[in-house]
Order: sequence, then structure tokens, then C-alpha cells
Amino acid sequence: MHVHRRLLNESMTYRAQRARIENRALQYETGRRSSIRRGVLTIPVVVHVVHNPDNPEQNIDDEQIRSQFTVLNQDFRAANPDVSQVPDVWKPLVADTQVEFQLASEDPLGRPTSGIVRVETDQEGFDTDDAVKSANSGGADPWPSDQYLNMWVCQLVGGLLGYAQFPGGPPQTDGVVILHSAFGTTGTAAFPFDGGRTAVHEIGHWLDLFHIWGDDDGACSNDDRVADTPNQADHNLGAPAFPHVTCNNGPNGDMFMNYMDYVDDRAMFLFTKGQSERMNACLEGTRASFIVARHGAAVPAGKPAAAAASAGAGGGNGGKSAHDGEVERLLNDSERLTIEVLSEIRDALGLVTGRSRT
Ligand SMILES: [Zn+2]
Repeated sequence: MHVHRRLLNESMTYRAQRARIENRALQYETGRRSSIRRGVLTIPVVVHVVHNPDNPEQNIDDEQIRSQFTVLNQDFRAANPDVSQVPDVWKPLVADTQVEFQLASEDPLGRPTSGIVRVETDQEGFDTDDAVKSANSGGADPWPSDQYLNMWVCQLVGGLLGYAQFPGGPPQTDGVVILHSAFGTTGTAAFPFDGGRTAVHEIGHWLDLFHIWGDDDGACSNDDRVADTPNQADHNLGAPAFPHVTCNNGPNGDMFMNYMDYVDDRAMFLFTKGQSERMNACLEGTRASFIVARHGAAVPAGKPAAAAASAGAGGGNGGKSAHDGEVERLLNDSERLTIEVLSEIRDALGLVTGRSRT
């Protein structure tokens, strides 16, 4: 939220983008628009391990990195062994988001890769100033953030477990940052954050989810803009007992076992269907390059994914698949979005557009 507020203050573009993204999410939530995505979407990930040679444990091993992917692919598919601990009243809300994550097998130049980049740093630790995201400031430069989810794993200072950038921000800082000892389930992962769920939470932000309590410091005045999660006062810590009632949200109380609360890794078990729909709004909007790229098998590195997929959709390779219609609809969707953005920028500038907002 610190990064989010900083960008809102600094950047007119980010404010306009956030208005557009929120508008689209609302359309999904109210059913005016619904997801057209079918099947599982696999997001290629690059893990930048930024480590100081004075502290060799920061250079986490491949096994610890792989253990993180096991957790991601369980949690985002509602296949986590502890999903059974969701209270009965909320079991119908448990969502399989149909999103999976995989270490990248091709680098931005199309060469084979393990998807793991190891970079030495002379920094003692990093905070939320994004220094870890640039080689010039002792970190590692991102891979193109419209084609890869960038994950930086490093030492963080100030008790920080991780942080993320919401969609709509600058591409050169897009991605998630995770403390090495809150990453994966083996190696340096340390209780109570050794369940791999810091990354689940941060990727939730990367896919546009807000904290479940609405970041209003206990005021009950703001929520997470998802209808099926109860309004709750503030974050929860540790492993609370059910129910924990705040903001008149009884009898069931806070959904503290949601990945977007602050409880221990052993106490969080679900994303809801409403959260999944909000993530779909993001994946079919701001982050649609991941869907389009999936269909464009021969997308050359460095070429805009949308352009390549467009060529593929109309191309004469004789293999027009059922997916092509989906791609065309997504591209039409981006045109509509451009019109929406222009309209919102006009609104933001206070000009009369003759168009009423809904
Ligand atoms: Zn958070």
C-alpha cells in the first residue's frame, strides 16, 4: 500500500490507469462483463535471487525455489491440502482461479533458461524503494514484465516479508519482492512464514487484490471491493480462532483465513470466487499480454505479444484454433478499453464529455 500511495501521488498516469482498472473490476463484479477465459493460464516467472556473499544463506537453493512453485500451484488451484480447514459457511466460496505459475523456460531472447537468475549485491538489505529491481542500485533488472512475472528474492529490512506492485504501475518495477526466509517451504524458510504464502499474498496484489480489511486502519469504512468477502476492521495476525467478529460482520465474522489477510502461513487457506473474478478482470485487462502470449506460440522475443498474436490469429498457417476467437475478442476488448481510458482521462481533467458515468 505504501508503494501504491507513492505512485498515486507521483503519477497522473498511474491514477488514470487505476481508475480504469477499478472501473473494469467493478464491471466484472456486478456481472456487466464476465470472464471469457477458459482453461488454465500458466504464467512464466523469473526468480531473481539477489544475495550478498557475506551472507551465503541468502543465495537460496533451487529446491527452495521449486517448493514455492508447488505452493503457488496448489493455492491458486484450491488444491492446497489445508483447504478443508475453511469454515463450512465459506466452503462454497472457495475458488480455483485457473492460474498456475512456472519457472520460465525461455529468456527474453528466446534462449533456454532455468528461470532463475542469481545476482550478487553489496547491499545489506532492501526496502520498498525498489532498489532491488535495478542493477544500478545493487539489484537485478526485470525481464519484460508483460511476458514474465518478475519475482525478486532477497534480504528485506524492517520486518518486511514482501511487497508487490499493483497492475497499472511502471513496467520497470512491476513484480513482487519476497524475503528469502519467507519464500518456499524448505531451506531458509522460517516459521511462521515457511508455508510459501507470502508469495501467494503478494501475487494476489499483483493480480489486483486489495487487503481483505480494506486498509482503513480498523475504521470499517473501506473494504476490499470484493462482494463475497465480509467487511472487516483490521488485519489479523497469528492463527485466530473462528469466528472473530468486527464491523458488525457476525455471526461469521472476519474471513481471516483468506490469503489477503496477515495471519501466519498455517492459518490461511483460500481465495474467494469474488477475488478470482477480480483477478480475471485484471488478467483480461491490464495483464492480458499473458493470455495473448499463451496463444501465440511463436511470439518472437521483444515483439509486442498482441501484435504477434494478431498476426497469428489472421495468419494462413491453416491451424485456426478455437482460441483464435478468444484472441480476437481480447483485442477488440483492448480497443474498447482505450476508449474508456480516454474518457476517464477527460473526466479526470474535468472536461465535459457529454457522457454520463455509471
Ligand atoms: Zn499485502
